[in-house]
Amino acid sequence: MPRLICDVSESVWQALGHESEESGDPLSTVVDRALSTAFDLDRHSLFQVSTSNALVQGVFRGAVTVGDLKRNGDFGLGTFEGLDGELVMIDGVCYRATGGGVVTSPPDDASVPFAVVTHFHSDAGLSTGPGSLADLTAAVDGARPSENLFVGIRVDGRFERLALRAACAAEPGENLVEATAHQSEFTVGDEEGTLVGFWAPLYARAVNVPGYHFHFISEDRGLGGHLLGMEAGPLEVGIHIESELHVAIPETVEFLTADLSGDHQAALHQAETAGHSKGTR
Ligand SMILES: [Zn+2]
Repeated sequence: MPRLICDVSESVWQALGHESEESGDPLSTVVDRALSTAFDLDRHSLFQVSTSNALVQGVFRGAVTVGDLKRNGDFGLGTFEGLDGELVMIDGVCYRATGGGVVTSPPDDASVPFAVVTHFHSDAGLSTGPGSLADLTAAVDGARPSENLFVGIRVDGRFERLALRAACAAEPGENLVEATAHQSEFTVGDEEGTLVGFWAPLYARAVNVPGYHFHFISEDRGLGGHLLGMEAGPLEVGIHIESELHVAIPETVEFLTADLSGDHQAALHQAETAGHSKGTR
């Protein structure tokens, strides 16, 4: 990596020190971030907190804060400490959807055990006709450049029907399958809004949710949740190519002592898809 040595004014120096202290990031990170923003550089990095395997194992203790996420992206999804709500970040604002899809604004110090965020801009766009979630993912499949690159996906439009889930706090000791089995699943009709989503390659399965993962947020920011299914009108889709992956590994005792060696694909799929609690998947 190139090294920058230069003189700066006293006020810049103090501001850098202040920001470094506030964020806990080293000076070099603060400088790099500030210059990237100033020059509006194309950023293609995915910032991920913890791993999907840890989530499956019930590692629900927060590892970073909402404020940390905002420093690493303006678009993303995840969950909150104790699996208490679905996290949706859009246009730099973070939302929490809980039981029944009711949306609130979490404070910047709210704790997050699992999340994926990026600085979103559309590298490729497409329009889809009316259709289901399968129709949408087929269209995005056709536009993704590779089976081996992560992509961020922003989908705007009118949704005729949305099947959503909103996590509500897990009981102590529950794993992801047990916790999601008693969560609120609901269907809503006729909502204008946005899907915030990602597609992750199969090779990333121990770390992320392979395939598609979408969270919905309504236009008025009053309704949200993890998407299980949909019927929608014409949709505008933007795809953001991710060529870097940063994983923030939690230093909580819970994470450090978890057994993450197994393959938890089946459990993750069960927790992420529709109606598993009712045996209808
Ligand atoms: Zn989700």
